Amino acid sequence: MTQSQTIPNRTDESLNPAERAAIDSVPTGLYIGGEWRETAATLPVVDPATGRTLCSVSDAGPDDGLAALEAAANAQADWARTPPRERSEILMRAHRMLLDDADRLALIATLEMGKPLAEARGEVTYAAEFFRWFAEEAVRLDGGYMTAPAGNARFLVARQPVGPSLLITPWNFPMAMATRKIGPALAAGCTCVVKPAEQTPLCTLAIADILRQAGVPAGVVNVVTTSDPGALMTPMILDERSRKLSFTGSTPVGKKLLEQCAQTVMRTSMELGGNAPFIVFDDADLDAAVEGALAAKMRNIGQACTAANRIFVQRGVIDDFAQRLAARMAALPLGRGTEPDVVVGPLIDDAAVAKVTELVADARSRGARVLLGGEPLDGPGNFYPATVLVDVPDDAQMCHTEIFGPVASLTPFDTEEEVVTRANDTPFGLVGYVYTEGLRRGLRVCEALESGMVGLNQGVVSNPAAPFGGIKESGLGREGGLTGIDEFLETKYIGVQL
Ligand code: NAP
Repeated sequence: MTQSQTIPNRTDESLNPAERAAIDSVPTGLYIGGEWRETAATLPVVDPATGRTLCSVSDAGPDDGLAALEAAANAQADWARTPPRERSEILMRAHRMLLDDADRLALIATLEMGKPLAEARGEVTYAAEFFRWFAEEAVRLDGGYMTAPAGNARFLVARQPVGPSLLITPWNFPMAMATRKIGPALAAGCTCVVKPAEQTPLCTLAIADILRQAGVPAGVVNVVTTSDPGALMTPMILDERSRKLSFTGSTPVGKKLLEQCAQTVMRTSMELGGNAPFIVFDDADLDAAVEGALAAKMRNIGQACTAANRIFVQRGVIDDFAQRLAARMAALPLGRGTEPDVVVGPLIDDAAVAKVTELVADARSRGARVLLGGEPLDGPGNFYPATVLVDVPDDAQMCHTEIFGPVASLTPFDTEEEVVTRANDTPFGLVGYVYTEGLRRGLRVCEALESGMVGLNQGVVSNPAAPFGGIKESGLGREGGLTGIDEFLETKYIGVQL
């Protein structure tokens, strides 16, 4: 199948004026105690579409991290006492400011991360919505009052902020992963130190600046950027002033951080990797299933923890499904995310391209057939073409690791029981997708899948109002939804003798 894809022609070293202005608008220092602090050491921020350096930001060391933690600890008591309505109104202002600033923020995200502008604008809306959702939650913190079973006492149950929180975010959704943590922390009355990914610091720095303008007091939100996350974060994690770690990233790093948190028995939330099965039964609406697969596979150029990693299609419809999916994927324009209509942007770095290349080669060596793409592209930037593989055997490496690229891996199945067993045959359990017109079968399979989330006849599950998170090695805790704020609250029981 032929692809309507070309390597981007924009390889010059200069940014256009709008791009330059967007990059230059972001403060590049550490944000500590309400002040921007430049460090002598800096780290470059690179455009993955061209490999060129966009700007440099401060490179924090362990002392800077501890200074940020101190600022958060010093601000904690006042922020916890700030009336919930006031905290809520600050978050609501920040929500509006993000939306009003969507064009600039989207451009920054596209330049530092590579995702197409349309997707980046979608991420701004998604990110802003976490501020609105948790602004609404801030004024609804519940408590309790009950009579002791013996009748002689009363139990009061209070919700209190857990305290200064460390928030570590990945590069793939640089805005939304930050607001998904900052929003509930602030709503609950916690101060925080945010550490964005090295590859995408600008989005978080821009959000911190917006929060400052929205009225967040000094020390409540602090941001540290670094090229050495272990050296920066370890002393902060082991410091008894830190009361919570909320981490989004890979499972291996999450496990390492859990070990560190065990030293002080620190509260944790872990949003880790996935290996999502996408299951299409032969009674599914195939048009809808193809569109769902496209969304679940190609969102963020396949670089999402929720990406459809293993696409199981019932044998009678797999050829039809594969042809339709390949035709849709072949038509997706590839290029620099700032170019109009581009859907397939660059991967985050050359290591990501090398990993996808290796996974595809491995699957082919084990008998997978290539319907589309399948070879890396020459030229500048970290581009990999949209690829469709069929008959990918279960022992292929890509069935056991996150592909994190625009590669659809298809395999046939025969029975419901078989596909559920194969889908669950992974240590991960973040999300699954099921396409069927049968209500009973749909619910049966949703219940049988070992994952924190399932999309039934829908290819995108992320929603700030829904509880996002995984089971097994995909994580601990939930972000968003009615329980998202619980991650930043302690429950205190007060016994009252009458
Ligand atoms: P990563 O390598 O685990 O990095 C995530 C964050 O942890 C980055 O800020 C990173 O800093 C930091 N980090 C790395 N080593 C650390 C250490 N020793 N101590 C403290 N912090 C450390 O993951 P990634 O490659 O950025 O992100 C992709 C992964 O995130 C995928 O596995 C994806 O599935 C997962 N993810 C999960 C969710 C979810 O909600 N479940 C959402 C999005 C992404 P540096 O950037 O400096 O390395």
